[in-house]
Amino acid sequence: MKTVKTVSELSKWLKKEFINDRSLGFVPTMGALHAGHLSLLKRSVKENDITACSIFVNPIQFNNPEDLTEYPRMPHKDASMLEENNCDLLFIPSVEEMYPDDNYKKYDFGSLENIMEGAFRPGHFNGVAVVVDRLLRLLKPSKAYFGLKDYQQFLIISEMVKQEGHKVELIGCPTVREDDGLAMSSRNLRLNEKQRKDASKIYDALIFAKNNHDKYSVKELKDIIIKKLNNIPDSKVEYVEFADPQTLQPKSSFAGENGSILCVALFIGNIRLIDNMKLCR
Ligand code: AMP
Repeated sequence: MKTVKTVSELSKWLKKEFINDRSLGFVPTMGALHAGHLSLLKRSVKENDITACSIFVNPIQFNNPEDLTEYPRMPHKDASMLEENNCDLLFIPSVEEMYPDDNYKKYDFGSLENIMEGAFRPGHFNGVAVVVDRLLRLLKPSKAYFGLKDYQQFLIISEMVKQEGHKVELIGCPTVREDDGLAMSSRNLRLNEKQRKDASKIYDALIFAKNNHDKYSVKELKDIIIKKLNNIPDSKVEYVEFADPQTLQPKSSFAGENGSILCVALFIGNIRLIDNMKLCR
């Protein structure tokens, strides 16, 4: 695996590797890699001639300064994991390299950006869109891989790709979970032992909703899920939303052919976790 830190090294490497029009799969990450990230990588390795991964803790997508400073960073371990899983290129730029000036585009994602993550993390999705746009411009991959754990982010990136006219196919990959159901996340590393154990109750609540949504109204089930999540020790719910999976607009009933997606965000201690689950009709 080749590791590059600068845009000019990256361009050189890409030029050299693309003499035969080979397909490039790209997996953008913020590092502290786990099996969720590796599922994206493995899929890219399977579907493309070459796979590139980026590790960049993107400061402009953090609306909470403590979350940025405390975000786990382990570049050496990450690089070994990538190498072991047949990644061809690791792009690990500095902030200065990615943002030589602070002239960022302001996107308009309409109703998608004012709900859920967008409402609770002002500026977050603009920061995500800016960095993914820059990375796609630099790498020009044929396919880029994202996790559906960050469901709203996937829709935002799809919209950005449309607006910018990027010629990339976006691949949404299913959420990888720990044995007890907790969605894998780099932030899980910040939970203490007790919090980590209790956090599996998030999954229990999602499964309850999946199995019981035909028995309740949206309002009733929302109240039940909020209660279940708030009953997790040391927790505080930020939002619980039953939404249309295509538009993410809140649903007032479970009817409709698109089905519903339950999206939740909560703090356990001062660690913010998100998860979601699609509910079939
Ligand atoms: P992050 O490093 O958190 O920015 O994540 C990088 C990519 O990995 C994003 O597309 C995430 O949605 C995806 N990802 C993170 N956690 C998981 C997971 N548990 N399962 C599948 N994909 C994930």
